Amino acid sequence: MTEVRFAQHAPTDSFRVVAGEIAPGGIPITRLAERVGRTPFYVYDRAALTARAQALRAALPAALHLHYAIKANPMPAVVQHLAGLTDGLDVASAQEMMVALDTGMAPEHISFAGPGKTAAEIRRAVAAGITMTAESEAQLDLALAAGSAMGIEPRIALRVNPAFELKAAGMKMGGGPKPFGIDEAKLPALLDRMKAEGIALTGLHIFSGSQNLKPEAIVDAQQKSYELARGLLAQWGRPVRWLNLGGGFGVPYFPGEQPLDVGPIAGNLHDLCERAEADIGAPLVIELGRYLVAHAGLYVCRVLERKESCGQVFLVTDGGLHHHLAASGNFGQVLRKNFPVAVANRIGEPANEVQSVVGPLCTPLDILADKMQLAHAEPGDLIAVFQSGAYGLTASPAAFLSHPAAAEVLV
Ligand SMILES: *Cc1c(COP(=O)(O)O)cnc(C)c1O
Repeated sequence: MTEVRFAQHAPTDSFRVVAGEIAPGGIPITRLAERVGRTPFYVYDRAALTARAQALRAALPAALHLHYAIKANPMPAVVQHLAGLTDGLDVASAQEMMVALDTGMAPEHISFAGPGKTAAEIRRAVAAGITMTAESEAQLDLALAAGSAMGIEPRIALRVNPAFELKAAGMKMGGGPKPFGIDEAKLPALLDRMKAEGIALTGLHIFSGSQNLKPEAIVDAQQKSYELARGLLAQWGRPVRWLNLGGGFGVPYFPGEQPLDVGPIAGNLHDLCERAEADIGAPLVIELGRYLVAHAGLYVCRVLERKESCGQVFLVTDGGLHHHLAASGNFGQVLRKNFPVAVANRIGEPANEVQSVVGPLCTPLDILADKMQLAHAEPGDLIAVFQSGAYGLTASPAAFLSHPAAAEVLV
């Protein structure tokens, strides 16, 4: 496939280029915009989703279970497609659970993590027969109460908050005081209680962080997670169905970042899967969100006005942070950096003009590209933000300033 080259960003080979236009699913972007009927929209490329999942499976051990964490992109059509390419789905709300169940994925391959589950959500999870990942003893008790009320044995996993932190992660979700999981130090007493009460344990879940581009840091976290779980499961001394070592695979967003080298991680997982077979007799699971979907998505908006102010060119578009908070730099970033952005219908033209792409909101935060080298653009042209398949529409404040919603399409 044609790579779209950027001066500073990692190149992307997820989308074809047809007649000088980015062509998701082979459809030139101006024609796709006509089909969608409006801008802005998100487009996700089915072939790119398939290619990523297949490449990953080819590298990973066959015994490893690959799950998709659907909060990264919960569009039902995307989740349906990924359900056919993965071994399980991880959800973080009852609504995500409904989307996951609609795919036909077997309930025993769906698990529900999250620190703030209500009694009603937990009851729905138990009724559905999915795995309720208890992030506290209180959640465990709610699941047990729901199970006895309905006469069902709930599937319960425990999420462990490990004492170690994931090095070099974009977002840390384990180590020290955290709202996620049950502190490692509290696990032995809890496992004793479960044994005494005859409660079955489906598995242990250790997720220590997200958006990591350093393979050695992910290997280190998986290694430590495995050792921690092995010790706890030795104490448990009874069978479990799986051990979930988390994920954290990052994708390159910003200038200078390189794609994650999965090789060393896969090598380590080959060793760990063999050990897991011998030590605990249950498969290992990893759960990935953005790594499976980010590359396959574009956010597309239209230039409304080309405007010059004090020598700087602004392309004012109909899209912005209300649909794509991450690209504006306001979703957890400390310093704002540009996502890869291009004038989608002028890919054949040289990107040799410094322009800024902004949205329609009355706030200086509404920036999609700050002083970037782009092809010369005029009103009516289409701007594409790459790496937008994860944490896009549903991770953005769509109601802020009450502009129209963005459409979504899978091609
Ligand atoms: C958010 C989340 C994921 C997915 O993280 P990515 O960075 O998108 O891969 C996986 N597991 C849990 C428990 C999560 O909260």
